[in-house]
Amino acid sequence: MKSKFIKSIAVLLCMLTICVVFAGCTQQNTNKATEPDIITAPATEAVVTEPLKDNLSFVPYTEYNLEEDTEVKNIILMIGDGMGENIIENAEIIKGDKLAMRGMPYKCYVTTDSLDGTTDSAAASTAMSCGVKTHNQYIGVDENKEAVETIIEFSKARGLKTGVVATQIIPHATPAGMIAHTDYRGLFNVILKQMINANVDVMYGGGSEYTDTAKMQQRIENSGYTYIKTADELYNNSLETPVIGAFNWGGMYAGNLPSLTDMTASALELLEGEDGFFLMVEESYIDITEADMDMEGTIKEMQSFDKCIDYTLSWAETHPGTLVIVTADHETGGVIVPEDRKPESVNNDCFTSDGEHTSTNVALFAAGAKSGELFTEDMIDNTDIAKIMRQALNDTYGEAEVKFLNEVSQ
Ligand SMILES: [Zn+2]
Repeated sequence: MKSKFIKSIAVLLCMLTICVVFAGCTQQNTNKATEPDIITAPATEAVVTEPLKDNLSFVPYTEYNLEEDTEVKNIILMIGDGMGENIIENAEIIKGDKLAMRGMPYKCYVTTDSLDGTTDSAAASTAMSCGVKTHNQYIGVDENKEAVETIIEFSKARGLKTGVVATQIIPHATPAGMIAHTDYRGLFNVILKQMINANVDVMYGGGSEYTDTAKMQQRIENSGYTYIKTADELYNNSLETPVIGAFNWGGMYAGNLPSLTDMTASALELLEGEDGFFLMVEESYIDITEADMDMEGTIKEMQSFDKCIDYTLSWAETHPGTLVIVTADHETGGVIVPEDRKPESVNNDCFTSDGEHTSTNVALFAAGAKSGELFTEDMIDNTDIAKIMRQALNDTYGEAEVKFLNEVSQ
């Protein structure tokens, strides 16, 4: 009883916090780069109180051999939110070996700035999805707030199946930028409506706070979606598309079940088929733990992402025609690699930007179908990621007319 009471108070307090944060954001609608990514952090911290259930440890490094000389049938875009290259290196110091992404044969660097300078996750997602530079907080719209075709709209126009998997709430900036159109990333209910309206085949993440309302439940049902909320329901292999899985009230730190790997494995099983697919997978809490300057927490997120990349590469090895891209939307934390490169030196002192995003270039790794032909430059811009994915899909599936699945919400 007592713990229930405390939990209720905690939930009330963080709802109040969210209201205050939203009120501030709505009034100002500023373009500050780093503020919005932590909008949902207080809620998540208060609600995720159960002990870690997943066995968090680094998977052994394995090198996979993905076929390159084949058309691009499927694209898997994997994003570590806030994952600069130095946090990759620090994770490798702790692991004592390479992370799975290092085995991907093509590597380049990516510039990430938005029209406002250092990017937030919304403008970065829009750049990678739509191929345009825009303002922070904007989702799937250009600087004039006009809709620009998202990668999921582009994929659906060519008959592909589509999916988004994230550890954040489903309508959070990165998954939202793959689908929706709005000039304010904080409109989670509106974004979620757009995502459902777009008939994305698989959407997994947190955020039952938004999916569980009576109105949203009606919308989910009317759109023909199966709605699941527990890891057990996810592991049930009789699932069919379209499916929405919201596995926590807020987002999910590494260690919660279902894990990012569990969600990705299910999505791949559901999306695989003759049609081909586009799937975006995001380890969302690298950014949040870096913003908190919490190295131990950040390493856990990196363990979770490493495991998911390892799984995805092994899957792609047995599914020729799959292009796998691993990158980040921006760097967070101004992370440095300790000079002595000792595990004990990888600690909270490695954060140098006071938890802020930075403009440091991020790394991109590619493997699989046509990866060597598509990624030939040492340095690209984040908008090039959208252009490269489109070129690959056009080569396989042909051109198609632009068809917006939603109007711009303001
Ligand atoms: Zn981000």
